[in-house]
Amino acid sequence: TLSDRLGAILTNLRGKGRLSPQDIDATCREIRVALLEADVSLPVVRAFVARIKERATGAEVSAALNPAQQVVKIVNEELIGILGGETRRLQFAKNPPTVIMLAGLQGSGKTTLAGKLALWLRKQGHAPLLVACDLQRPNAVTQLQVVGEQAGVPVYAPEPGNGVGDPVTVARGGVQFGQVKQHDIVIVDTAGRLGVDAEMMAQAVAIREAVVPDEVLFVIDAMIGQSAIETAEAFRDGVGFTGVVLTKLDGDARGGAALSVRHVTGAPIMFASTGEKLTEFDTFHPDRMANRILGMGDILSMIELAEQHFEAEQAEEMAAKLVGNDFTLDDFLQQMQMIRKMGPIGGLLGMLPGAGQMKEALAGVDDRDIDRTAAIILSMTPQERRDPKIINASRRQRIAKGSGSTVAQVNSLVDRFFEARKMMSSMAGRFGL
Ligand code: GDP
Repeated sequence: TLSDRLGAILTNLRGKGRLSPQDIDATCREIRVALLEADVSLPVVRAFVARIKERATGAEVSAALNPAQQVVKIVNEELIGILGGETRRLQFAKNPPTVIMLAGLQGSGKTTLAGKLALWLRKQGHAPLLVACDLQRPNAVTQLQVVGEQAGVPVYAPEPGNGVGDPVTVARGGVQFGQVKQHDIVIVDTAGRLGVDAEMMAQAVAIREAVVPDEVLFVIDAMIGQSAIETAEAFRDGVGFTGVVLTKLDGDARGGAALSVRHVTGAPIMFASTGEKLTEFDTFHPDRMANRILGMGDILSMIELAEQHFEAEQAEEMAAKLVGNDFTLDDFLQQMQMIRKMGPIGGLLGMLPGAGQMKEALAGVDDRDIDRTAAIILSMTPQERRDPKIINASRRQRIAKGSGSTVAQVNSLVDRFFEARKMMSSMAGRFGL
């Protein structure tokens, strides 16, 4: 994946004290290839690599104590820049309701997104209304009603058989209904087609003119690769939009669409959708996405997830230890227990630093494994947990006996711990934490 590639390229630089022009050239070339292979569009790649090269040959790198680290910092900053910099929040209308219109191709995940956005807003204390204006696709209205029900949000839809034909009338009626019923946000779902066509654009424009939305969100499937660009341009020129929602980011291992869309359309990516469940959705954070692409793992997202399950203080402490050097076996155990409490380990894998290498190791971890690990760690003395290096052969035998496991299992645990600690401190070094 892009993350693995970039990680390897930048790790190669690390051994070098001073960077020659050849080092920088070679690095830029490799970054270019990695981005192109990730389906990032060519103009974006060109602009990106040119910026890296310019900054990497400048004084900020040659004067740095650790030039390689400085290059990593530059790549990180430029990634954040290309992803849009600051997170862009929804713009609410002065006079409610705020009208949000959704546009995008059929299958992009628009209807699902409508439900996700509605649920997300409702959880923040808003009272959204969904309006079903996709009268093109059979079942689209029913599908919206289903996600509306799941989200606990009402849906305004045309009465069957009663002037079903006109989406503009439905859109206008929906906004009026929202006003009367005191909904502070009205989300208008519109029709998509499998490909961009003039009729669909004209309809979207007519709806836009009828309801004058505060936001038009263009919904795009991150997995469609290079054609993402053409589609985004067609919608930009056809109906126009104020923000982008990337869906199916869970399947986009290459990350190309995320990197291209902002640059090509000039519109910010505002939300990301990462699964079929309504809760698999969040504000898009360019800095976190950049960290994820750089292989740092999405530590912040993980901390947030942890915070939902633990006291903030505990989570912060854990995060500090994750990147510090005073990581002990007690922490290791606590971390494993945290992960177990947080639910399916699989979902967290992508967020872990160095997930690429860790994936295999963690794939086999199950609850029994964690219980056994806990038993082994609890059979050690506090000093041993702090500094497992002092555990000699006879102590390993004692610990195995005390925890009902084998010496091989004790050895494997100690090895895994050292691996994890090494990985974390190298990551901390790589990012200057
Ligand atoms: P629409 O035609 O644009 O309204 O698209 P739908 O909302 O019907 O979504 C099309 C398909 O994509 C459905 O099977 C959804 O469950 C799936 N889908 C939507 N969003 C996501 C996502 O973020 N990740 C994944 N993996 N699937 C998604």
